[in-house]
Amino acid sequence: MWLPKLRELKEAVTAVFSPRFTTRFPAEPCTVPEKYRGKPEFDLDSCIGCGACVNVCPTEALTQTDDLEANPPVRRITHRYDTCIFCGNCSENCTTETGIKLSNEWDLATLNREDSIETHEFELQLCEKCGAIIGAKKHLIWLYEKLGPLAYTNPTLLIAKSSELSTKPQDIQQQPDKDVRTSDFMRILCPKCKCELNIQL
Ligand code: SF4
Ligand code: SF4
Repeated sequence: MWLPKLRELKEAVTAVFSPRFTTRFPAEPCTVPEKYRGKPEFDLDSCIGCGACVNVCPTEALTQTDDLEANPPVRRITHRYDTCIFCGNCSENCTTETGIKLSNEWDLATLNREDSIETHEFELQLCEKCGAIIGAKKHLIWLYEKLGPLAYTNPTLLIAKSSELSTKPQDIQQQPDKDVRTSDFMRILCPKCKCELNIQL
C-alpha cells in the first residue's frame, strides 16, 4: 500500500531537481524547429492570382471572388488564419511554387477574428469579344514568360504581355461585341471565342 506512495514521492522529488521540460513562453520567446508549419505567407512578387491554392484548401481558409463591377475588374483571394489548419496543401500545389509558403510564425492569437483575415487583389483579364473572365493578368504574363518563344503562337498571351508597356493597361482593353470576325485574331480572347474564330479561319 505504501509502495506506490513512496514511488510518487521519489518522482516528485526527482522532478523538483530536474531541468525544466517546458518553455517559459510568454515570459520568453519560443523558438520553433526549422521545418515548423506555421502561418502561410503570400509572396506577392511570385503569386499570380491563379487560384490553384484555393482549390486545394481543405478547410476553405482560402477563398476567391471575382468582382466584375470593380474598375478594373479584380480577383480577390482571401486567407482566414482562424480556420487554417497549416496543412501546407496550398504551398505544395502553388503554380509558381513560391507564391505561398508556410512560415515559422505561430503566435496568431487575437481577440478580434477580423484581424486574422488577409485579402489580396489581382487585376482580371476579360475576353474582348464576350467579356468572359480569362484569368488574372499576372497569370497570362507568367504563362507568356514560361513558354518563351512558344508564346508567339498565342496572340492573347502576346497582347497581355505587351500591356505591361502601358501605364494604364486597362485602357487598351477593347469593348466586347458579339460577332467573331477574322480581324479579331489579334485580340485577347477566351477559349470559347478563340475556338469560334479558329473554325472561321
Ligand atoms: S495551410 Fe492548408 S488549411 Fe491553411 S490555407 Fe493552406 S491549404 Fe488551406
Ligand atoms: S497557387 Fe500560388 S500563384 Fe496561384 S494564387 Fe495561390 S499562391 Fe498565388
